[in-house]
Amino acid sequence: MAEWDVVIVGGGIAGASLGAEIADRRKTLIVEAESQCGYHSTGRSAAFWLESYGGPKVAKLSAASRALLDLPAANFSDHGFLRTRGDVHISRDQWAELPGGVDARRLSRTELEQLVPGIREEWRFAVFEPACADIDVAGLHAAYLRQFRRNGGSVRTDAQLESATHASDRWTIRLTDGGQLTASIVVNAAGAWADSIAQCCGVRPLGIAPKRRTMVQLRVGRTGLRDLPLVNDVEGTFYFKGESDSSIWLSPHDEIETDPCDAAPDEIDVATAIDRFEQVVDWPVEQVERRWAGLRSFASDRLPVYGFDTDAPAFFWCAGQGGFGIQTAPAAAKLAAAQLLGEDPDPMVPQIDPATFSPRRFA
Ligand SMILES: Cc1cc2nc3c(=O)[nH]c(=O)nc-3n(C[C@H](O)[C@H](O)[C@H](O)COP(=O)(O)OP(=O)(O)OC[C@H]3O[C@@H](n4cnc5c(N)ncnc54)[C@H](O)[C@@H]3O)c2cc1C
Repeated sequence: MAEWDVVIVGGGIAGASLGAEIADRRKTLIVEAESQCGYHSTGRSAAFWLESYGGPKVAKLSAASRALLDLPAANFSDHGFLRTRGDVHISRDQWAELPGGVDARRLSRTELEQLVPGIREEWRFAVFEPACADIDVAGLHAAYLRQFRRNGGSVRTDAQLESATHASDRWTIRLTDGGQLTASIVVNAAGAWADSIAQCCGVRPLGIAPKRRTMVQLRVGRTGLRDLPLVNDVEGTFYFKGESDSSIWLSPHDEIETDPCDAAPDEIDVATAIDRFEQVVDWPVEQVERRWAGLRSFASDRLPVYGFDTDAPAFFWCAGQGGFGIQTAPAAAKLAAAQLLGEDPDPMVPQIDPATFSPRRFA
């Protein structure tokens, strides 16, 4: 039976980034149920970095991740992962309130019209967050998997954990294809399946709930949109950003409760997105070019969960990354790796208290 120090369940951005941080010091295997890593949430995101997103505690992780995303070490990637486009938080009747320390300024109506030509009259309140950027998600995920393998890690795809039992300080892990492994530590980086994995391992679930979000690529009767800022409303009912010269990515900001699954968009959510979009700008809608959906998974307090389980000390949670799992991955992986290895916090995350994200808060 193959023996590992650490088996990470899930090869999305969470499993790949944490794996890359520990593989040089622990013999580590990623098991991924799908035939390719990144098939679920990681491959379906809106791909932006927005510091204010997720509230002040998540903002610290996002801010701490920025340097690596902007200017990674040469042995990690020969190019950065960000392309700045800015974000406009708009409202009909109030100013956006952003977490302290986030660089932002109020826009005049004229400035707003320059950034979003054709915006309807009633959107009178606009706050600009200039640092918002697109993330090259596929590039970042690939760089983490590359670093993981270079540091000695192994990836097994089409390998779904079925159950695991813990005895005499070791896990015995069974896969659905009949394979068996042993490990000292199991890491739960299974995204929407995080609670199911806990149950399969005899660990108390934490109530991590998957919620479906819909994305639509829309062609519109307007050009010059590639560099359009991300535009979102303060009430959280839509966002859109430029994709190509005459198309945008649009979301109705939906959060539909669901079981973990291969998420697909519902027509009603696509229609809702377009309806809300038409209330913002006067651009004619020409065609839905693409639509997709993915799952964002949240703990009850909407903060991610990093750390050893309270009752099962060899079970490590790396879950609940909600709608910010890409933009926080570099700092989150450093924070989680230090805990898993029992080391001092990395210089990237010295100001971040790991207790904020510990599973012990649910004990
Ligand atoms: C529409 C949408 C827009 C988003 N936009 C953004 C954004 O702009 N910026 C941002 O930072 N974040 C965004 N997010 C959130 C981000 O995508 C997630 O937080 C992140 O991808 C979560 O990564 P993960 O590795 O935890 O999950 P996943 O990528 O889902 O990976 C979990 C993996 O675990 C595997 N798995 C499950 N069960 C088993 C098992 N039994 N055995 C083996 N493997 C298993 C799954 O197959 C899956 O590949 C968005 C998400 C969605 C859906």
